[in-house]
Amino acid sequence: MLVVQKYGGTSVGSTERIRAVADRIARTRAEGHDVVVVVSAMGHTTDELVDLAGAIVDRPEPREMDQLLATGEQVSAALVAMRLISLGVPAKSLTGWQARIATEPVHGNARVASIDTSVLSSLLEQGVVPVVTGFQGVADGEVTTLGRGGSDTSAVAIAAALGADLCEIYTDVEGVYTTDPRVVKAAQKLDVISYDEMLELANLGAQVLHPRAVENAKHFGVKLVVRSSFTEGEGTEVVAEQQMEGRRVVTGIAFERQVARVAVVGVPVEEHALASIFSALADRGVNVDVIVQSVVDDQAVDVSFTVHENDLDKAEEVVAELQPKIGFKRIEKESPLAKVSIVGAGMISNPGVAAQMFVALRDAKVPIHMVTTSEIKVSCVIPADLVEEAVQALHRAFIEAAAVTPLTHAR
Ligand code: ADP
Ligand code: ASP
Ligand code: MG
Repeated sequence: MLVVQKYGGTSVGSTERIRAVADRIARTRAEGHDVVVVVSAMGHTTDELVDLAGAIVDRPEPREMDQLLATGEQVSAALVAMRLISLGVPAKSLTGWQARIATEPVHGNARVASIDTSVLSSLLEQGVVPVVTGFQGVADGEVTTLGRGGSDTSAVAIAAALGADLCEIYTDVEGVYTTDPRVVKAAQKLDVISYDEMLELANLGAQVLHPRAVENAKHFGVKLVVRSSFTEGEGTEVVAEQQMEGRRVVTGIAFERQVARVAVVGVPVEEHALASIFSALADRGVNVDVIVQSVVDDQAVDVSFTVHENDLDKAEEVVAELQPKIGFKRIEKESPLAKVSIVGAGMISNPGVAAQMFVALRDAKVPIHMVTTSEIKVSCVIPADLVEEAVQALHRAFIEAAAVTPLTHAR
């Protein structure tokens, strides 16, 4: 088999951990498999680099930020390769550009565009283990990074490009859980989860996999497993829907902190303000999440939307600039907020799931500020300080108190 193994920050967080990781790679090789390794930066290195930049300037130049952040993974890749060589396993560390990972020409959050596999394939043919830096690529000769948590995406992209038999994501928990085990002690490890559910969970804040990794795995049919680098467990397999055997209505619960809400109050109806407000926000690169428009009377509507807390001031500024044109009454801001979400493919065929969520949150005395739903998820915006209570209450209602039922095909 050809296996891509990705090791996250905690997994390579110390010299001891790097030795353990090298042992595991050597073992996989000894079992007769070809291995490509992808590594994250050691421990909290990336956070420290971000802080370092912040201590020098307020708004670092995006190009220089990528130059800086990309160094973290170079350290761990070289150390893992060194250790492998000392164990008698031929290995070579490669940066994103050396591995020929081309991205779109964007700094900070670039998508992988293509991978020229010639270098990786030739190393594999020579029996050498490529140890590739995750989280980065190259565009027009410039170093780019893929967004926080992006090493997962590097691994999946490499697995897809090489047609690998398996992509293993090694992390600090046993697999994908019903919710973040750091917040809910009773969180349960899932043996399997569908690509679609995993994609929703990842997009809604479950940190365990980078959303684009899941998106790419689904698109290219990459066999993806999440497991612990600290133990020998089977982990969680991310599979296509048909392969799922039994499930609850809700598969998992995700949450996001640092949510902020902007309300544009008293917008004259005839202004069709949604188009101008959201075009202006998009032009300035502000990512908007939940949007609610409510009719006040036949003259006016209120428009509110959420953004990441870091974008709150910018969003307010953009909307304020539209005041002379649109003539709304005022802008209100609210933060810190959080968003809790329940996700499950079983929701499609089970009415009343949203109602059950509202009841669980009411009973836990968590006020709901906004709601948004899709086929397989319901999200509520709530006060930030109640996020843990909310997640625990939802976990009790939808996971601990719910039976796993055999799959009934909804579509
Ligand atoms: P790595 O450095 O290995 O990439 P991350 O910190 O990015 O690891 O992701 C693993 C963490 O994700 C876990 O330690 C866990 O606290 C968190 N997490 C959040 N939601 C979930 C979930 N549903 N299942 C498992 N882990 C989760
Ligand atoms: N080191 C990067 C980060 O901390 C990428 C990753 O770990 O996936 O975001
Ligand atoms: Mg990660």
